[in-house]
Amino acid sequence: MPEKSHYKVVIIGSGPAGLTAAIYASRANLAPLVLEGIQPGGQLTTTTEVENFPGFEHGIQGPALMDVTRKQAQRFGTEIAVDTVTDVDVAARPFALSLESGASITADAIIVASGASAKYLGLESEKKLLGYGVSACATCDGFYFRGKEVVVVGGGDTAMEEATFLTKFCTKVHLVHRRSEFRASKIMAQRALQNPKIEVHLDTVVEEILGEPGKGVSGVRLKSVATGETRTLPVSGYFAAIGHQPNTAIFAGKLEMNDVGYLKIAHPTTRTSVEGIFAAGDVADFQYRQAISAAGEGCKAAIDAERWLGAHGIH
Ligand code: FAD
Ligand code: NAP
Repeated sequence: MPEKSHYKVVIIGSGPAGLTAAIYASRANLAPLVLEGIQPGGQLTTTTEVENFPGFEHGIQGPALMDVTRKQAQRFGTEIAVDTVTDVDVAARPFALSLESGASITADAIIVASGASAKYLGLESEKKLLGYGVSACATCDGFYFRGKEVVVVGGGDTAMEEATFLTKFCTKVHLVHRRSEFRASKIMAQRALQNPKIEVHLDTVVEEILGEPGKGVSGVRLKSVATGETRTLPVSGYFAAIGHQPNTAIFAGKLEMNDVGYLKIAHPTTRTSVEGIFAAGDVADFQYRQAISAAGEGCKAAIDAERWLGAHGIH
């Protein structure tokens, strides 16, 4: 539960975007509050090695990176509360936020950094092997599967893009889709279908992912939708590519979003459709979805908020 009832800046989310915004806002003497939500540290805490975040020559574990970023934000006066926003009154001035703990707080400016969640099939084995051969991000984890065979699940543009990207590293990519037609755009599907390293398994679902956390993925059990027949495919990696869900439910009808729920911002700024509310990271970015790009947007949002507050006489 937060210590005060009013803040100049409240940051919703404690992933790379939220914590970077906190570093900048606290160094600007705005004493921000970060509300951590149900995933303190954000998506990177669900993975192991992060090798593409600049500054770490030999990579760093996702949870360790977020832990040190959190401490960096606290060092400059950021308050961090283990709490989740359940409602925001965007018409009130200052803005009014209701929290899961039952607390109500107000804020002169809000930075929304609530991220997006990759969708998974929901299998128990998927959960168990997450970060140990199960991933939802080829850009992040493809490198670990150099010279190996992997499975990608999905039939949309994300699946086509992930499968095509993975052929740079993998000897073979099995693209598994539950229907006989792809949802993906023609050009993306064509690119994937023409790639000799991609083998397509249509009308097929993944029933189980085989392996152990210590040893990684050893295969997947597939089931034909048409015949019910099952078979095991020996692979070393499994990528869920069935879409992402931005965490924007609390802003439905309050902030402008695109048709799948990502917050709209006025590029190149981080301003949302409501003055004084800014958005950063995956919650407004369906293109890049990287820790470093989220952190960069967090920096921009804090600077935008600071300038906006300054223009309204709040320093
Ligand atoms: P997130 O990290 O999603 O954080 C969102 C935060 O908002 C969380 O703290 C959550 O608790 C909070 N929140 C949500 N709703 C509320 C609410 N109502 N109230 C309060 N808080 C709320 N990127 C890389 O660059 N390199 C990698 O190697 C890499 N590996 C990845 C591996 C995996 C398995 C996954 C899933 C992603 C990976 N990514 C990687 C992508 C990267 O993690 C994301 O792009 C990045 O975390 C986005 O940061 P964010 O701050 O925008 O959101
Ligand atoms: P999407 O278009 O919603 O496609 C999701 C795919 O996953 C669908 O094929 C769906 O199958 C499948 N799927 C969903 N739930 C499943 C489940 N439980 N089990 C098995 N399969 C499941 O999502 P997306 O591919 O992430 O694309 C989202 C948006 O971003 C789209 O507008 C897309 O065009 C865009 N995008 C564009 C690019 C690009 O242009 N470079 C890249 C990525 C994404 P069904 O088809 O049977 O429903």
